Parts: sequence; C-alpha cells; structure tokens
Amino acid sequence: MLRFSRVHGHFPSTDERLDGLDPRRWALWALSRPVLVYLAVVEIAAVTVVCATLDLVPITSQSLVWCGLLLLAEVLHLEASRRIERIRELGADGSPHMHLQSIWIFAALLLLPPPLVAFVIVISYAHSWVRVYRRRSVLHRKVFSAATVILAATAAATILHVGTGGRVAPFMPYLDGFVGMTTLIVAGVAYFGVNYAMVVAVIIVTNPGNPGRKALGNVSDVLIVGAAVGVGCGIALVMTVRPWLLPVLMITPLALQLGLLLPQLQAASRTDSKTGLINVGFWGEVAGRELLRARRLASSVGVLMIDIDHFKLINDRKGHLAGDEVLRAVATTIRDQVRAEDFVGRFGGEEFVVLLPGVSTVEATRIADRVRLSISALAVELPVRDGDIEPDVLRGLAASVGIATYPEHARELGDLLQAADVALYEAKETGRNKVVLSSRTCTARIKLS
Ligand code: GH3
Ligand code: MG
Ligand code: MG
Repeated sequence: MLRFSRVHGHFPSTDERLDGLDPRRWALWALSRPVLVYLAVVEIAAVTVVCATLDLVPITSQSLVWCGLLLLAEVLHLEASRRIERIRELGADGSPHMHLQSIWIFAALLLLPPPLVAFVIVISYAHSWVRVYRRRSVLHRKVFSAATVILAATAAATILHVGTGGRVAPFMPYLDGFVGMTTLIVAGVAYFGVNYAMVVAVIIVTNPGNPGRKALGNVSDVLIVGAAVGVGCGIALVMTVRPWLLPVLMITPLALQLGLLLPQLQAASRTDSKTGLINVGFWGEVAGRELLRARRLASSVGVLMIDIDHFKLINDRKGHLAGDEVLRAVATTIRDQVRAEDFVGRFGGEEFVVLLPGVSTVEATRIADRVRLSISALAVELPVRDGDIEPDVLRGLAASVGIATYPEHARELGDLLQAADVALYEAKETGRNKVVLSSRTCTARIKLS
C-alpha cells in the first residue's frame, strides 16, 4: 500500500540500477546503523509472522482459487496502470506513496489464510519492482515496504479475528451487522495506520533534512488508501457470494484510475508550469481547431501577441524571481480581461498569445487595449530578497500588443501569427506600450472575392 519512496530527489544512478544484482553494491550498506537495525527488526518480524501463521488456517482449494484470481487481478491492474503509477511515484519523492494495489491485498486478507496473504503481498511488490520501477529503485526499500504491508495485514487480520468472535479466514461470511461494519472499519484503519507509521518513521530517520510534513504525505494519498480498502472489501464480498460478477468489479479500480488520473496528467502536460496558462503546443492545437470552426461558420478569430516591454531590465534590477512574479501577474491579468472561452497561452519568455474565437477586428482592438491598460495598472508584490525590510512593489509595467484577425489579415494559423508578430514588432519600433493592428491584407481572400 505504502511505498518507501525515492528520497534523494535524483534519478537513479548506475549504482542504484545495479542495486539488487550485486550484494556488495547494495545501497543498503550506506544506511546508518540505527536505520539498518530498524529495517532488520521490521523484516525479521514480518518473516516470523509468516512462519508462525503457516499452518494456523488450513489452505483449501477454494482459498487457492481465490488467491489465483486475486493475483491475476493484481497483475492485470498493475500492468494497465504502470505508467501512471510510475509518474505518481516520482511525484511522491520523499513522501509515503500510496497505490491502489491495496485493493487486492485488502481483499486477500479478508479471504485468504495468512501465508497466502503474504504471498499476494510479495508477488505484488516483486511485480511492481520489476515492472513499474524496472528495477531502478533500491531493492531494500521495496523489501522493507513489503514487510510493513505484511505486518499491517497481520494487524488487520488480528482485528478481524477478534471482531468475528475468534473466526479465521475467510472472514467475509462473518462480517455483518453493526459489529461487522465496525470491525471492518477498525481493520482498515489498523492496516493503514501500522503501515503508515512504519514508513513515515523510516523516511524521517533516513532524511533528517526532509521537512517533517512532507514525510507525512498528502491527504489525497490517504484518500486513495480509503478507496482501496473500500473497493477491496467489495471485491472480497463479491468473490464470496457472486464470484462470476468479479470481472465486472475488477474493471472499477482500473477505470477509476485511468478515468480520473489520465485527464489530470494530460492537463499537466498542456500547462505552462510557471504561469498556469496553456503552453504554446496546446495553444496551437486549439487555435487550429478554432480556425477550422470559424471557416465552417464563416466567423472570425482574433489573435493577440503580447510582449512585456523592457522585461529584461526587471530581471537585471530585481532578479529572476521577481521577473517570474511579474510573468505570473501579467498572465493572471490577461486571463482576467478576456472571456472564459478565449485561450491565453504563454508563447515563450515574456510573450503571450491570446486566441479570441468569434471576435472581429474592432472587438479585438478593444480587448487588446483593455489588456494593455490592465497590465500598466498592475502593482506586483515582489519576493523579499536578502536585505529587504519590506516587500518591494513594482508598478509602471508596460506591454506592446500586435493584433491580427481571421479572415481579414490571414487565413492560415502560421500567417495569422506572423501578421500579429509583425504588428507587435511595429508597436515596439514605434515607442512600445501600445496596440498595433496588422496592416497585412489577406491575399488569399482578395483572390477569392
Ligand atoms: P522589449 O521591450 O524589446 O520586449 O525588451 P525585453 O527586455 O522585454 O525583451 P528581451 O527579449 O530583450 O528580453 C526578454 C527577457 O526575458 C530575457 C530573458 O532572460 C527573460 N526571460 C525569458 N523567460 C523568462 C522566465 O521564465 N523568467 C524570467 N524571470 N525571465 C525570463
Ligand atoms: Mg520578447
Ligand atoms: Mg519584451
């Protein structure tokens, strides 16, 4: 459930990649003695628990079938969500990392005898080490994570054992009524809590410089575990009473994960991280589509090219962090001055492009002036620098704007951008802090008419 995530914030070195193949080069030996002792205690405890519970519960053919199904589901799920898990894990650098494999582990602990639960956990971690991390992660972390999950599952199974009046796995048939519900919730909390505490402890100890709050991870990760416990419970129930409905339920975690996370990841790849505006690639895609639509509807599209005047001076005088703050403020004010259906992109550096679908030349000029005035009215609070007593506020910004519209100045996106750029250049040449409309005439249009 929780992974002992990468903690040093770098891509794995050759040494780390070799980790696991040559015991002499294991990153494990670089850890301090207390950490080594702690890892050893947790891992020995996990092995002891597995050995001690080996013949506690008879392994029936039914439990072997369940075990096989859960392993199959785990493998299919992880294979399908491998890329997403990899991206999420990189994002969780230095924090505990939760993953939806807990679904299968929690379902296993509700149904299977302890050694089979441990087997599902070990296979699940080995699988993710080979396929998600492609063995680029440090092996001892994965071993430790698997050990914490085994102990967490044991804690949860103990609670289920007590809550069902001394029953052994499968617990599912005996979990009913208020007591059953409470037992399940307490078992879920124990599963999460034991695992979480052990992983957070090791992250704090191995990373003294890591902020304590980061080691605690995100609320969203806690919610993921909640979801995993809930779905795992549903799966265990279906496997007990309606096994043939299992494939239907198995789609749920994968579809949720792909359905909810993929659009977010895609959105992130469309965004300029500094300003939060869309990046130039996505802007181009949208602009292309809008031009087609305008052509179909015999409508118009306005394009503004905005460039901050003498921006380099701000960097030179106030520093690049101040420059970045100005970029963010300008981006926000441009966004505020246009309609929700307009597209504001960061063209690069201190240049912005705005796409105004359905807007005529006259309207585009009005909007451009409004944007220019709003930029000159900005008062940007700059980040405090060494020696500053109070935050510096920057006023008197200016920007130049070039305008071109479809179909008046150009009919193709490239020409339209070029026309707006030439107009912008003219604004710069003729004094800056002004709006200039393209003087290009659309030759294609003249030919057509
Ligand atoms: P002009 O009025 O002619 O547009 O002059 P300018 O100084 O605004 O334009 P110039 O092209 O000379 O300089 C743009 C500067 O923008 C240079 C570059 O270092 C800076 N810049 C580009 N991207 C970023 C960024 O992301 N952050 C910061 N702080 N500066 C950036
Ligand atoms: Mg520029
Ligand atoms: Mg500039």
